[in-house]
Amino acid sequence: MPSYRDFHRRSIEDPEAFWREEAKRIHWETPFDTVLDRSNPPFARWFVGGRTNLCHNAVDRHLADRPQQNALIYVSTETGIERRYTYTELHAEINRMAAAMRSLGVKRGDRVLIYLPMIPEAVFAMLACARLGAIHSVVFGGFAAPNLAARIDDAQPVLIVTADAGARGGKVIDYTPLVDEALARATHKPPHVLLIDRQLAPERLNASYLIDYEPLREQFFDAHVPCEWLESSEPSYVLYTSGTTGRPKGVQRDVGGYAVALAASMEYIFEGRPGDTMFTASDIGWVVGHSYIIYAPLLAGLTTVMYEGTPVRPDGGVWWRLVEQHRINLMFTAPTAIRVLKKQDPALLKQSDLSSLRTLFLAGEPLDEPTASWIGDALGKPVVDNYWQTETGWPMLAIQRGVEVLPPKLGSPGMPVYGYDLTLRNEDTGEPCAPGEKGVITLGYPLPPGCMATVWHDDARFVDTYWSSVPNQHVYSTFDWGVQDEGGYVTILGRTDDVINIAGHRLGTREIEEALSSHAAVAEVAVVGVTDALKGQVALAFVVLRDAGGYATDDARSKLEADLVKTVDRQLGAIARPARVHVVAMLPKTRSGKLLRRAIAALAEGRDPGDLPTIEDPVALQQVREALDTPRG
Ligand code: ATP
Ligand code: MG
Repeated sequence: MPSYRDFHRRSIEDPEAFWREEAKRIHWETPFDTVLDRSNPPFARWFVGGRTNLCHNAVDRHLADRPQQNALIYVSTETGIERRYTYTELHAEINRMAAAMRSLGVKRGDRVLIYLPMIPEAVFAMLACARLGAIHSVVFGGFAAPNLAARIDDAQPVLIVTADAGARGGKVIDYTPLVDEALARATHKPPHVLLIDRQLAPERLNASYLIDYEPLREQFFDAHVPCEWLESSEPSYVLYTSGTTGRPKGVQRDVGGYAVALAASMEYIFEGRPGDTMFTASDIGWVVGHSYIIYAPLLAGLTTVMYEGTPVRPDGGVWWRLVEQHRINLMFTAPTAIRVLKKQDPALLKQSDLSSLRTLFLAGEPLDEPTASWIGDALGKPVVDNYWQTETGWPMLAIQRGVEVLPPKLGSPGMPVYGYDLTLRNEDTGEPCAPGEKGVITLGYPLPPGCMATVWHDDARFVDTYWSSVPNQHVYSTFDWGVQDEGGYVTILGRTDDVINIAGHRLGTREIEEALSSHAAVAEVAVVGVTDALKGQVALAFVVLRDAGGYATDDARSKLEADLVKTVDRQLGAIARPARVHVVAMLPKTRSGKLLRRAIAALAEGRDPGDLPTIEDPVALQQVREALDTPRG
């Protein structure tokens, strides 16, 4: 292997040559004639003229080499159901689903909205769409009716696929009333709604528009539906961003570029080999689920484990038992799950045989140093933080162990990934930052294969939102703020929205959070900036304590607050000192574990936090409100 540095340089200096080589990883029914079309920046089209199909590459292609290998292992600790599908069986299920969809009129280019819990039928439905050339738009099952309605109106699907219910932490959530309400609210009326009946919701709606999948599956049991060969740049799917910072954007992905980028990432970043087993604990409603539960592991001939349930039910050892039982080699989840596991009995981790596990990957939010150290020490295996967005579809920053095993740096997801011309830039001038200088993380044109092609039916929003925010430069903004050291390691300091300006000093909320979380009493922390007449902005901190009982008295609380403020003083200087440190029992987060700083800041400034679609537990917001109302002790 070349060194990381050479590898990265080659991918930037000659992307055509670099990606022409990588494109050999997938099957092209018709070869492409141009690697990259740069005629209309900031748009880029990869592998122009090539025709391929994601379902063919993920499933059909493996029928020759690994027909009896498990493609999908499904485990639900909510229902106690466990199922295995070989590549042959997965292929058959996808064909049944594709035939059923086709019988309902779904064809190439149509949108199919998938509103499903974590069940195998979700995988069948997504890959059936890929097979037919239909565009799937998966909406996270935790979304409420108004959010679902907004996505129905934006994507204009010809079909919705849903289930009677989801389950979480032992609680059944009926889906059909939510779909019913969303359909009532939406302007667009999809002609059909296909229902996967798990027989979980006894109260499920019996509306006449719901079409049961089971009889269709029987009817099409032996169906074979050929793959539609799509031009590389035709859309494969639309996935809306989490909406942490505002109105969600419909990220449109292509076919060929995505297949090539994911297949390459499995070798260079994830070191996944055909026959390996990968467990990505995320949800199909998020990009990590699209890319690393479904497409990438299957494209590369792995076995993928799909899990419905929480990491702590029936107990905090459940994931480690899965590793032992299924000989899992690669595991991928979010730091928030590891923080949850960290609060569990450490003995649980030692009770399972984890010898099969090679690497743990974490992404989605900052991996704080205490969590990184804890899990790294506990597992004794490499922990690979990787940074990316729904927009990019695959990692932008990581230690790329399949290229060169460089040492990790605590608190940093590593270096720019090959293909990404990643530069930190000064927000006011647009000039590249010197090492150590904070700035916004940007990407140069063209974005590598697999990244968003545009905003769904809104090219202007793609240009205006992503390519027009850095002064004097035509670059893509991630809207994240970071710093790069001499060695190339990048640390994420927060979102550009979260940058605080205290008396003229620019600070990322992440920096203050890291300082606070280094204090032994702190389990979790959120820092937000609020307007201040004197300083422009001040920082407010909200902390969850490891042992709240130990600080029950007012006196103990004030001492702790003073101590925490001192910790920040020591690490960042008095300028970063939070105006107040509030103790709360939990922080408001999205269902994907992202802190809702925007909502906390709104409450702190006495504004309405607005629409909070995916909030994990609304009680957390109430707690923030109460903490804000509590006078200083
Ligand atoms: P929206 O864009 O709609 O506000 P969102 O940004 O939360 O929603 P995602 O695409 O799911 O939607 O999240 C991507 C963001 O998550 C990144 O831009 C970054 O802020 C954060 N992130 C992801 N991975 C990491 C990581 N390894 N370290 C730090 N932050 C990360
Ligand atoms: Mg975002």
